[in-house]
Amino acid sequence: MMEAGPSAPSHSSYLPASLLHPLSNSLVLDQIVAYLPVSSLLALGATSKSFKDLVHRTPNVFRHLDLSNVKSAQFDIANIDNGGEVWRNVQLDENVTEDDFYGGPLLYIFNTLRKRHILQDVQTLILDGLSVTSDLISDIITQDHFNVRILSIREVQNLHPRKLQQALRYSVRPSRPAGTPKLKGLYFFGSKDTTPLPRSDRSISCTDTTPSHGVLVHSQGAQIGAQWNQKSGDTLAEEMAHSGDKWYSTGRVLAKSPTTDWDNTILACQGIISFDVVLCHGPRHSLLPSSERSGPWYQKPRYHLTPRVATHSIGGCFNCGRAPEGMSRFGSSPLERFPMLAPPPLHSSTAKAAKAPFMASGGKLLLRCIDCLRNRFCESCNKWWCEDCYEIPEPGQGAGSPHQWGNGGPSIGGHPEKHLKVHMGLCVDNCLVAEMMPGAGSNGMWG
Ligand SMILES: [Zn+2]
Ligand SMILES: [Zn+2]
Ligand SMILES: [Zn+2]
Repeated sequence: MMEAGPSAPSHSSYLPASLLHPLSNSLVLDQIVAYLPVSSLLALGATSKSFKDLVHRTPNVFRHLDLSNVKSAQFDIANIDNGGEVWRNVQLDENVTEDDFYGGPLLYIFNTLRKRHILQDVQTLILDGLSVTSDLISDIITQDHFNVRILSIREVQNLHPRKLQQALRYSVRPSRPAGTPKLKGLYFFGSKDTTPLPRSDRSISCTDTTPSHGVLVHSQGAQIGAQWNQKSGDTLAEEMAHSGDKWYSTGRVLAKSPTTDWDNTILACQGIISFDVVLCHGPRHSLLPSSERSGPWYQKPRYHLTPRVATHSIGGCFNCGRAPEGMSRFGSSPLERFPMLAPPPLHSSTAKAAKAPFMASGGKLLLRCIDCLRNRFCESCNKWWCEDCYEIPEPGQGAGSPHQWGNGGPSIGGHPEKHLKVHMGLCVDNCLVAEMMPGAGSNGMWG
């Protein structure tokens, strides 16, 4: 890091004047700014009057703000002992609450960005892995000075899920003011993106937001050109390796089912706030009016299932290739059927853009919850039999509703295996047989 001080040379000497011309094209600028840390943008704006106008007067320059790798946003307990800059600001007040404490670093950054009239422009905010309290999220969702549409808080620390659920439910309450909530999408359930964006130095100090100070400008300004060059090459590779693609292959897409509280919160938010998961739309989750219940078996109230987040992507029924609720196609099916894909989009801050499949063809999507798949999905080969093609044989007398059978499945006494498609999570015809072959395993149950 180079030393810089009041006698540092004019910053404009680091950037060719000709750069101003292509950047004045809003399309070019929009493509580029999403890849630059806010510190670099401020550095650029500090180089000359023309660049200042460009950065601070062009809409959307600060639309996408990723603080996840910003050092001063990290909650580091060691900072307290060392009397870090950030901490002095929150520790001055003896009445500091737990949320103030853990939310301190981010709160300080938000306040600084707000004073510089930048916060209001941020529509996509990435806080993955940081110390993010529920109070902070409530502020982002409800306070007027925030205009965040897409918020990513994957793997954050010090967040109470229940408080987050309450904040979300409150924001979508029927009596909410018109035009609220501004938040349209929340990334929360997935893992934070492992491939960092091609930014060589995303550190931002508290002085970063004060370009007139000169320190940051000097070191960052020289890197801007290099970052832009690196950008284009990395973009394609990065977009090919999207973790969001997993939703369009078959198998488990969510490591574990969210809690029932989340199922209900996501239901409450449906059509208003999208998530990086979706509810299962299997036919057993919809309760039809009694007049329409003369249809298939799964419309009977005894088979009804409560709302549940989908954990598996299944390509369609092994027998008929379809599903009772229909396969979802992006563009024609309701948007609520599609999860927001990771990573959050760089060039747009809408839930629809976040849900758009990466493959040009789009592809069909069918997502189901664990309750819907029980005893009709093979965990080994991912074959699945839909509710129209396969009615699971009734369990032994006195058994409860099918979703209470547990993992063991129905009893196989009395030759019901003739009809059974899946037993103990494996398809009977194929994978279960393979499992039973001598030497294939030590399944004591089959001797
Ligand atoms: Zn079928
Ligand atoms: Zn389901
Ligand atoms: Zn199988």
